[in-house]
Amino acid sequence: AKDRGKNNFQFYSAYMSQHAAKMLALESSLRRAIEREELVLYYQGKVETRTGRISGVESLVRWQHPELGLLSPDQFIPLAEETGLIVPLSKWVLREACKQVCEWQRQNLPPLNVAVNLSARQFVDDHLLEDTALVLRELGMDPTLLELEITESMMMHNPEHTIQILQGLKAMGIRIAIDDFGIGYSSLSHLRQFPIDIIKIDRSFIQDVPGDPADEAITEAIIAMGKSLKITVVAEGVEKPEQLQFLSDLSCEEIQGYFFSKPLPAKDFTKLLWRNLAP
Ligand code: C2E
Ligand code: CA
Ligand code: CA
Ligand code: CA
Repeated sequence: AKDRGKNNFQFYSAYMSQHAAKMLALESSLRRAIEREELVLYYQGKVETRTGRISGVESLVRWQHPELGLLSPDQFIPLAEETGLIVPLSKWVLREACKQVCEWQRQNLPPLNVAVNLSARQFVDDHLLEDTALVLRELGMDPTLLELEITESMMMHNPEHTIQILQGLKAMGIRIAIDDFGIGYSSLSHLRQFPIDIIKIDRSFIQDVPGDPADEAITEAIIAMGKSLKITVVAEGVEKPEQLQFLSDLSCEEIQGYFFSKPLPAKDFTKLLWRNLAP
């Protein structure tokens, strides 16, 4: 038994060092990726339910890895968070997303909001307000076009600090969205304390509507709450016409999801924008 324990341990430590080596290699290649601009932003439209008009976009980062191909954020954001590389990565994302909306404006497309996902790390970092203000100033961008998405768990980690940061962002004209709403632990009374403009209903609630009575009730309640608090409600993960119909019947203001469009590279999204202008 003792020997077997030892073997297991050897196996385990071999596995661990292999894993650690892999992570280390990935870390240094991610560092290079940020410098060499191997990161790319994809854009997914947010659509007004009533009119079908694209009102804004969410920027979603990808890593065009020279050997591994196109990596999704789930494959490298956690590593970036762990290693602190999320800080330069996020700065790149914010600047790139803002540059892109300015570019669309330059092409005389109607003004579009751009949503950028914040990481937990950025939210405890003291430089968020400064860094954001700098990007907006450098690009001469209208701050009211920028939306920052945070999750409930980020807000609840330190509510006093959150309120302070959010008020700073609001004072600049930036709008705040709660991402993945409904799966966290924020209570409705909590919600009132935060200067929130937008709620994005998590995809897991939308997945089985219409059909699942509990999910239907939750979705309906969130939409009703948004209306009474004057918060814009966006449904995430809309894939099917029945879902759109259900949400439209409840007067959910905006939808986002594959039904309208998958996230696309800037070039393809630009084509979609021009097509969306035609009646
Ligand atoms: P998220 O912010 O909740 O973004 C929505 C995710 O749902 C995206 O996955 C999007 O491609 C996917 N999605 C959109 N519509 C549908 C649909 O109809 N059905 C299904 N099944 N999925 C849909 P993606 O791009 O893989 O991003 C995953 C997560 O990675 C994001 O979730 C966000 O939390 C994080 N992320 C992405 N970009 C960034 C970034 O620039 N910075 C940070 N900190 N996090 C990011
Ligand atoms: Ca998001
Ligand atoms: Ca989300
Ligand atoms: Ca998410």
